Amino acid sequence: MSNLSYISQNNGPWSTYLEQIDRVAPYLEHLEDYIDTLKRPKRALIVDVPIVMDDGTIQHFEGYRVQHNLSRGPGKGGIRYHPDVDLNEVMALSAWMTIKTAVLNLPFGGAKGGVRVDPRKLSPRELERLTRRYTSEISHIIGPQKDIPAPDVGTNANVMGWIMDTYSSGQGHTVTGVVTGKPVHLGGSLGRVKATGRGVFITGQQVADKIKLPLEGAKIAVQGFGNVGSEAAYLFVESGSKIVTIQDHTGTIYNPEGINLEELKVYFEKNQGVGGFAGAQAISDEDFWSVEMDILIPAALEGQITVERAEKITAKLVLEGANGPTYPDADDMLIKRGVTIVPDVICNAGGVTVSYFEWVQDMASYFWSEDEINQRLDKLMIQAINDVWHTASEKACSLRTAAFILGCERILKARMERGIFPG
Ligand code: GLU
Repeated sequence: MSNLSYISQNNGPWSTYLEQIDRVAPYLEHLEDYIDTLKRPKRALIVDVPIVMDDGTIQHFEGYRVQHNLSRGPGKGGIRYHPDVDLNEVMALSAWMTIKTAVLNLPFGGAKGGVRVDPRKLSPRELERLTRRYTSEISHIIGPQKDIPAPDVGTNANVMGWIMDTYSSGQGHTVTGVVTGKPVHLGGSLGRVKATGRGVFITGQQVADKIKLPLEGAKIAVQGFGNVGSEAAYLFVESGSKIVTIQDHTGTIYNPEGINLEELKVYFEKNQGVGGFAGAQAISDEDFWSVEMDILIPAALEGQITVERAEKITAKLVLEGANGPTYPDADDMLIKRGVTIVPDVICNAGGVTVSYFEWVQDMASYFWSEDEINQRLDKLMIQAINDVWHTASEKACSLRTAAFILGCERILKARMERGIFPG
C-alpha cells in the first residue's frame, strides 16, 4: 500500500509495483535499508497543456513527467499519449524503467511521461501543438544529461522529432540526444522501431529453450499489434511458430491454423486494427484468454492478466511485451500452475537498450549499421536474461523477483555509495 499522500488509489499500477518491491526486499540483505528510495519518485511534475484546436476552441490536457530514480544516471523512459494516463500510472511506469535500465545495466535511471489524451481524436496539427506545448512545459527537467524521453503507447518517431525540435529551439542549437526513437535522418538509430519486439523474441527464445518448449509449431497468442506485438509475432513465425489469436482495441481474431501476418499487415495498415480481418474468425475479447496456446505475449497495456484470467491461460510461457500486464496475485496463480513468466523489466527492455545505443551514437555523432545494432542488442539481452535465469535458480524465486534482485542491487548500491546529501 502506498504511504504517499498524493497516491490514494490502492489498486492501480503503482500498487502492483510496490508489491513487487515488497517481494524483493527480503533478498536484498543490507541494501534493504535503502529500499524506501524505490517506494517514492524522486521528482514528479504535473503540467497543464492548453492548445488551440483546429476549430479555434481551447482545450486543456493533463501532462506528466515523473523521474523515479536518477541514482545511476539520467532519467530514461517513454512518453505515453492515452486517455487513461494519470499520476499513478506514470509513477509505476517510471519505476519499472528504473528497474529495467538497471537489469540491463544501462547507465540510466528511470522516468516516464504522459498526456491524458486520445491521440486518435486529434488532427496531425493538434497533435503537433500538443507535443510542442507539453515539451515546453517539461523542458526544464529534460535534457541529454538529465532525462531522455522516448516513444511509448500512442507516440512515435514523428512525436520525438517535434520534441527534439521544440527543445532545441529553447537551447538555440540542435540537441539530438534529448530524445530517442527519433526519425533516423534526425539522429535516430537504425533498428530502434523493431527493437522492443526483437527483445521479446530473443528473451522468449532463450527461455523457451531452457524450459524445452520447441518454437517450431508453438501456438502463440498476442495481445496488442503495435510495434511490440507485431514485430515479436513476425520473428516467432520465422522460427516456425504460429499466431493463433490476436487481440487489439478493435477486436479479437482467431485462426487455429495460424494467422497470415503478411495479409494481416496490409489489412492493419488500412484499418488501424485487427478487428474484421477476413483471414480469421472473430471471437469475444474474454475468449482470447482461454484459446489453446503455448506462448502468450501481452503487448498492450498494464493490468491485463487478472487472477481469473490466469486460471484459464493454457500457455506454458508468458512474455511480457507490455509494462505491468500481470497483477501480483495472477503472477502467483500462473507460477502455481507451472507457467514461466519472462517479466516486463527484461522482456521488453530491447527498446530502451537500442535507445541507449541511439543516445551513445548522438553523443559521438557516429552512427552504426543495423547489423551492428542488432548484434549488440542480442548480446546484451542474452546476457541479461541468462543472468536473471541464473539468479532465479540460485535463489529459488521467480524470474520477476530475480530480475528485481539484480536491478535493485545495482540501484541501491549506487544509492548507498553516493550517500545521502547533506550527510
Ligand atoms: N517506452 C519504452 C519502454 O517502456 C521505451 C523507453 C525508452 O526507450 O526510453 O521501455
